Amino acid sequence: MARPADFGFQNPEPETRNPKPLVIPVFIPHEGCPHSCVFCNQHSISGVEGKPVTGSEVAGIIRTWLKRGRKKNASRVQVAFYGGSFTGLSMARQRELLSSVKPFIECSEVQTIRLSTRPDYIDPGIVAFLQEHQVATVELGVQSIDDAVLERSLRGHLAKDTIRASALLKDGGMELGIQLMVGLPGQNFTSLRKSTAQVITLAPAFVRIYPVLVVAGSGLELQYGRGEYRPLSLSRAVLQAAWMKKKMTAHGIRVVRMGLQPGPELERSLVAGPYHPAFGELVNARLMLGQTRKLLSRVPPGRQVRLQISDRDQSVFRGIRSANIHRLTSLGLSDRFTLHTDPDQARGVVQLIPDR
Ligand code: SF4
Repeated sequence: MARPADFGFQNPEPETRNPKPLVIPVFIPHEGCPHSCVFCNQHSISGVEGKPVTGSEVAGIIRTWLKRGRKKNASRVQVAFYGGSFTGLSMARQRELLSSVKPFIECSEVQTIRLSTRPDYIDPGIVAFLQEHQVATVELGVQSIDDAVLERSLRGHLAKDTIRASALLKDGGMELGIQLMVGLPGQNFTSLRKSTAQVITLAPAFVRIYPVLVVAGSGLELQYGRGEYRPLSLSRAVLQAAWMKKKMTAHGIRVVRMGLQPGPELERSLVAGPYHPAFGELVNARLMLGQTRKLLSRVPPGRQVRLQISDRDQSVFRGIRSANIHRLTSLGLSDRFTLHTDPDQARGVVQLIPDR
């Protein structure tokens, strides 16, 4: 049932209705990757340096996280190998890492494994190997499906590799995730639109959207220094990510993350670009503002309507530092509606409540 909320907004209720699975992260930065994508400096991004993690260290990490998970009553557990290109590692190394998770899967303490890799590091043999080791989710670092952009980004693979790898993974029964970027060299809105349309046809289960940042030690830092690359402004990056999220969501594709994980290492290595520690929140707030404006634009002047959001979206609706409220006020729209919340309403949606 809807309940009214005023512009003072109540604090969102704690997230209790749909507990997320416990994800145990294991970082394997730059291991096995001979490429030098123009935007990448894995050490700067992950903050993990030193010698590669061993199989027994992986087991130790899992045990530590499982103890925390028990306290949080997590019902599902996934081990996620992040960073680098997992299937670019030697087969012995892949086997070592995946075998370290096996005992936890056998005693049902861990349900699934997730890893990330490059599209050109997937072939039928690899898919069979991953199936054998209970890998359920593979995220492909796709970034763009525009060959010209991929070439300028020194990715070392083409759009056709992504199309082929996606089909192989889906045919192998894997959950497919796709990582995309906004602000790549040579990427304009037409290119972004085409990539988005093609990703939609690949029908991944989820995507992540990252704005390109110029980090120290990357090829892009040199290009930026020479004036050959200009990063997106924060507002443009937010706008492009919001546009992509809207399209993906409309096709039932979950957008599970927008923006890199903030942290001191990333902030220290940041040279330029649309960085914001709450980039995803900026995008979600932007989408909500867009929906609100669209709904209010259909309301005849002088009439006030009732809008409804999920009770967990109150801070998103308001925007960071109440930016959305200020914007609605400046547009003369803030007194055109009353806001109601409903715990059962889908998140990210603003709805007009019909008059009784
Ligand atoms: S393939 Fe991945 S890890 Fe390797 S350079 Fe490119 S972004 Fe970095």
